Amino acid sequence: MHTPTAIIIGSGVAGLAMSVRLAVKGYRVSVYETNSYPGGKLSAFKQDGFHFDAGPSLFTEPENIEALFTLAGERMEEYFQYENVPVACNYFFDNGKRVQAFTDKEALQQELADKLGENPEQVSRYLSDAQNLYQQVGSVFLDHSLHKSSTWLHKRTLTAFKAVKWPHVFGTLDSYNRKGFRSEEATQLFNRYATYNGSNPYSAPGMLSLIPHLELNKGTYYPKGGMISITNALYQLALKKGVEFHFDQPVQRIIHHEGKVRGVVVNNNNCFADIVVSNADVYFTYKNLLQHQPKAKRLLRQERSSSAVIFYWGMGDNFPELGLHNIFFSKNYKDEFQYLFDKKEMINDPTVYINITSKLEDGLAPKGNENWFVMVNAPANYGQNWEALIQQCRVNAIEKISRILGRDITPLIRNESVLDPITIESKTGSYMGSLYGTSSNSKLAAFFRAPNFSNYIRGLYFCGGTVHPGGGIPLCLHSAKITAELIAKDNIQPSH
Ligand SMILES: Cc1cc2nc3c(=O)[nH]c(=O)nc-3n(C[C@H](O)[C@H](O)[C@H](O)COP(=O)(O)OP(=O)(O)OC[C@H]3O[C@@H](n4cnc5c(N)ncnc54)[C@H](O)[C@@H]3O)c2cc1C
Repeated sequence: MHTPTAIIIGSGVAGLAMSVRLAVKGYRVSVYETNSYPGGKLSAFKQDGFHFDAGPSLFTEPENIEALFTLAGERMEEYFQYENVPVACNYFFDNGKRVQAFTDKEALQQELADKLGENPEQVSRYLSDAQNLYQQVGSVFLDHSLHKSSTWLHKRTLTAFKAVKWPHVFGTLDSYNRKGFRSEEATQLFNRYATYNGSNPYSAPGMLSLIPHLELNKGTYYPKGGMISITNALYQLALKKGVEFHFDQPVQRIIHHEGKVRGVVVNNNNCFADIVVSNADVYFTYKNLLQHQPKAKRLLRQERSSSAVIFYWGMGDNFPELGLHNIFFSKNYKDEFQYLFDKKEMINDPTVYINITSKLEDGLAPKGNENWFVMVNAPANYGQNWEALIQQCRVNAIEKISRILGRDITPLIRNESVLDPITIESKTGSYMGSLYGTSSNSKLAAFFRAPNFSNYIRGLYFCGGTVHPGGGIPLCLHSAKITAELIAKDNIQPSH
């Protein structure tokens, strides 16, 4: 019997997960990747003895990784280890207040009561609501295609809708949080979760209040060896399951005929397969690989998520007041988002995020030094003068961190490299350098995200941060699961 064949375009985290899922189903899987390495945004590099994870730094829901190893019949511990991180983030407010976001519920209630005057019961209620919303709505949204009528006709979808209240849909995340908390600081802290999918808390719906459930109720984790261990583990698992990888091999075109996918063009050669899954940005897939300009243009109706400017700094000292994740908040959060999404500029007093993996593991920075991943939210690339914006952003970030920590950090920066919206696009094929595909700034954004399948080319599918259910590692892994289930249901027979 003919073994069914699959081609995957791109080896981002969703492409890797997809390759494992299809290999386990009996497909002969080939992955074509533009870069010389797997992982897409989830990659890493070394700089003068410092290790840096290039993209994602926050790891939640390790069960999504575990599920792939279980599916493949392998022991995850042999490939991938992680530990629990008891403080999800250290928050530094401009007025001098400092808060530790503990993942232990009682410790967090106490901290928010002591530092910000919040009512502990109210904090507990907020987190329970987040959990309820996540469990009800998440079970539909994260595990099923929203573009199939079977999802909408299922009983679980009706039950899920019962958990949704007016403020979740018709209020913004900010208005939802203002009702939940007394202090400006707690509101700002919980508004920040909109940035977890590159959105604006002053226009994104209250529904995003389910995001803290992932981090604060379910926990925050750190993969041993840094975030790159996720890529390495999934890549090794895929190899073990017989997946073939072709690096430095960009796909030029998707071949289809009479409404059925036939394969792809690579190096001007035709490579045939029964199914093709694109893990590349869905906009570029339609525009360049299918040359379907009207469809590509329609996708642009959805606003892109925010991007970022990242400075990778090897720091020549230790900072005991900092932890793995640290946020230095802007004074005026609303203005900051107005700059990002309306003016498409960067404010002079930005929120600065610092991730330091050498806090948890020796060997990621030379002794007595720290590896700082310093990220400032930025608009997607609309052709701004990035050279000037980056220069100003660096000055602003250094000024802010130095002021709040009470010492000038400039002389401690031993080495530096920078990632920006233009280089994010050139290195990972993400249109306009957006981190999470499309934003969730409109109430119906979740429903307008691109589907996981083509409705005019049979056998063509999509996975990754630019399609349903959206960006971020957990959602990308869910997208691979949804797509694998659609493929199984479609039961496409191998062509002989
Ligand atoms: C700076 C930064 C910080 C982030 N922080 C977090 C975080 O803390 N937590 C979190 O969960 N998420 C975070 N994210 C988002 C997260 O990284 C992404 O949502 C996720 O990694 C996207 O994975 P993906 O599978 O969609 O593929 P991508 O990583 O986008 O990879 C797509 C791959 O397809 C390849 N490709 C494209 N076109 C072609 C072609 N024609 N032929 C062959 N190959 C092609 C690309 O080279 C690339 O390797 C962050 C992202 C960035 C950039």
